[in-house]
Amino acid sequence: MGDDLPICVTCGVQYPLDADRAHCIVCEDDRQYVGYDGQQWTSLAELRSAGHTVDIHEEVPGLFGLATSPALGIGQRALLVPGEVGNVLWDSISYIDDAAVERITELGGVSAIALSHPHYYSSMVEWSRAFDDAPIYVHERDAQWLTRDENVVLWSGTSEEIAPGRTLINAGVHFAGGTVMHWRDGVDGLGALCAGDIFTVVADRRWVGFMYSYPNLIPEHPDTIRRAVELVRPYAFGSLYGAWWDRIITHDARDAVFRSARRYFEHIGAPSNGLHP
Ligand SMILES: [Zn+2]
Repeated sequence: MGDDLPICVTCGVQYPLDADRAHCIVCEDDRQYVGYDGQQWTSLAELRSAGHTVDIHEEVPGLFGLATSPALGIGQRALLVPGEVGNVLWDSISYIDDAAVERITELGGVSAIALSHPHYYSSMVEWSRAFDDAPIYVHERDAQWLTRDENVVLWSGTSEEIAPGRTLINAGVHFAGGTVMHWRDGVDGLGALCAGDIFTVVADRRWVGFMYSYPNLIPEHPDTIRRAVELVRPYAFGSLYGAWWDRIITHDARDAVFRSARRYFEHIGAPSNGLHP
């Protein structure tokens, strides 16, 4: 594993050894921020000696979540989404160690990795390498944000089924390449949407939000949201998994996406006609 490669403390994205350590391109973008003490770095070796582990536990039968513990950076929880030909690792986390690889191998390993957006690129290349160089699917519209591109497969267009029953959709919210993944057979056979924070599950877990920047509270453009909602229209899903533990919509999630878009449009004064499921 790339034990000594620099990992940004604020966003959790790993860089190559020869990176310019004065800057993190992800944090300097106006969707993120540089930590108040200036640009800081850690590494897998440092995280390991500080006692970090990968917390792995079952969300619902057959669906496992994993997160760096204690949390680092944005603190996201990735998902191991099962199906024919193997698990898709949805999003990624900064920490990885032999114990985590062993546990996930017991759960069937990782056949492919898919990313919602650059804030979760984290140590995705290390995760790929740990699982036979599994392909890492990143939408081409976000290629400029890659800090490491080993095993990355750039995909294009509006949707792509990367494994049976697991389809990426370029919703384009938050980032131009912002992606959600439809899990056809997910959760009681009703379908599920892995949404990262492209559609983010908010504190009232009957709703999602759509933001260009969460930490800096910059709203997403209504045309972008309308396009995204139309792209998920053809898919059935009862539940929706946000980017953190417990950020889950457990029923009528497809309706919640439409209802949330209507509420958002009403608040910003944009016409919400047609935004019905
Ligand atoms: Zn950063």
